[in-house]
Amino acid sequence: MQKEVLRHKTINAEILDIAAKYTNDPEAVLEVLLELHALRGVLKEDDVGDVARALSIPAERAFGISTFYSMLQAPKTTIRVCDGPACWLKGAGDILSTYKAQSLESDLDSERSSCLGLCDLAPAVLVGEMQRGPSDIKHVAEVGEDRNGRIPKYDHPVQGEKRILLQHAEDIDPYNIDSAIEFGAYQALKKALAEPKEKIIEELETSGLRGRGGAGFPVGKKWRFVAEAKSDEKFIICNADESEPLTFKDRVLMDANPHKILEGILLAGYAVGAQDGFIYIRGEYTSQAKKLETAIQQAEEKGWLGENIQGSEFSFHIHLHRGAGAYICGEESALIESLEGKRGEPRIRPPYPASYGYHGEPTIVNNVESFAYAPEIVNHGGNWFLSIGNQTMSGTKLFTLLGHINRPGLFEAPYGITLRKAIEEFGDGMSPGSNFHFALTGGAAGTIVSSEYLDTPIDGSSIDKGLALGSGAILICDQTVSPLEMLRELMFFFEVESCGKCTPCRIGTRNARIALDRMVAGKKSNGDAKALLNLAELLKNSSFCGLGQSAAMPILSAVSNFEQLFL
Ligand code: SF4
Repeated sequence: MQKEVLRHKTINAEILDIAAKYTNDPEAVLEVLLELHALRGVLKEDDVGDVARALSIPAERAFGISTFYSMLQAPKTTIRVCDGPACWLKGAGDILSTYKAQSLESDLDSERSSCLGLCDLAPAVLVGEMQRGPSDIKHVAEVGEDRNGRIPKYDHPVQGEKRILLQHAEDIDPYNIDSAIEFGAYQALKKALAEPKEKIIEELETSGLRGRGGAGFPVGKKWRFVAEAKSDEKFIICNADESEPLTFKDRVLMDANPHKILEGILLAGYAVGAQDGFIYIRGEYTSQAKKLETAIQQAEEKGWLGENIQGSEFSFHIHLHRGAGAYICGEESALIESLEGKRGEPRIRPPYPASYGYHGEPTIVNNVESFAYAPEIVNHGGNWFLSIGNQTMSGTKLFTLLGHINRPGLFEAPYGITLRKAIEEFGDGMSPGSNFHFALTGGAAGTIVSSEYLDTPIDGSSIDKGLALGSGAILICDQTVSPLEMLRELMFFFEVESCGKCTPCRIGTRNARIALDRMVAGKKSNGDAKALLNLAELLKNSSFCGLGQSAAMPILSAVSNFEQLFL
């Protein structure tokens, strides 16, 4: 009887309209839920059921998705207070407590959030679509003010920077394709269209460009795999789900020059014979998504995207897809699952996306920074790029430098810089009264290193010496911060962001955090350090995907470099 009632219940008209906008495509379930959430401010159970019926998918699939992504679970107006490492250092805990206390007297909801990618605005908050910071405990009432203008732009290089990606950042208007074209946009594509396709991949291979997302796989090799794959359909995916704590370099690139990213994706499409590309951007980056949307539209109007680009036989379309708050969707196979309208849970690999990616077809997945280098390499040649950097990694890298230094932010430099150089040259020295205690390098899935590493070159081989390069994130901590407490914060992050698919990660990160809670509270027992190391080994060796595996890295490095704290 109940089933009969449900079957004949009228689907809400607004939901039918939204679903129709996406041609009732079951794969668009996340987009439909996001749009409904934006419209209503909150997702209700009945509405999720209606979405399922409008898209003709099982209700459990729609509910499975609505409960997977953090942004769909809280009301739209919720103030999300970042507790990523940079914000935590700057007192995010007190900011959240103040908001919570205010919530009791008002309608304002607030909650903690994993890193918002606004580390240079620490302590940062996200209010609806607005990215704000630094939040001041004395001025929390000002949260309603629009502080978007305060997002740093990094228009001008600081002394010692070598800029490739951020060249002309001060000249280009990201909302105006003509200004991007004036400073070289689409010249590489024009050149590539006049030459054999093969040349693009040859130059990339010569350049030695390796992926900038953290794994460092050679980009030319990946493109060649897909180019040589026998398939009628191939896809390009740009991973803009930048969620690694302490990392906001892709945000800066999208803000500065979105056309450079589009051009990199187009070059990949042309080189491998694909006709469709996706940009998967994290849900928290609304203003960056709007910039990309504008850039796509303007590129289509000017004939740099779409059918028969610039009169050639090459046709290519770029689709923008927004995530909804899930760190795991930065993992390439989880991202593809999410793009296909499922929960963002990783796939078993191999097969890798280059042979079995989106819809099971050969797919290139590279991150924003990697794609942005491609036009430069096509324009200047692979040998030019190879001559920059060092023997382990060619080219420059966008580094984010945060914590107890005078000038936190972002800089572009060749590989091989050291922590000491980063602090003294780009960070303008330690903050007044601060002495170097330790650094967290490579993001949350990185290493906690002592002053012994101050002169270790940061490059493709630094991990062999115990210092992670990862996404290029560096957090400098002074004598007021305990590596133990930092590690506890990192384990809490992994516990919250574990997708829960496999037991070693789901339970292992939780148990590690609980052990660290005890240690931080000064209640450690004799066996805690050994238990923590055992958990790290379990995470590293038995987790299903890179999230659980890399959660071991900060534990192992912290215990190795600050052993006395764990005994
Ligand atoms: Fe999910 Fe963690 Fe297992 Fe990865 S390792 S599949 S994130 S539970």
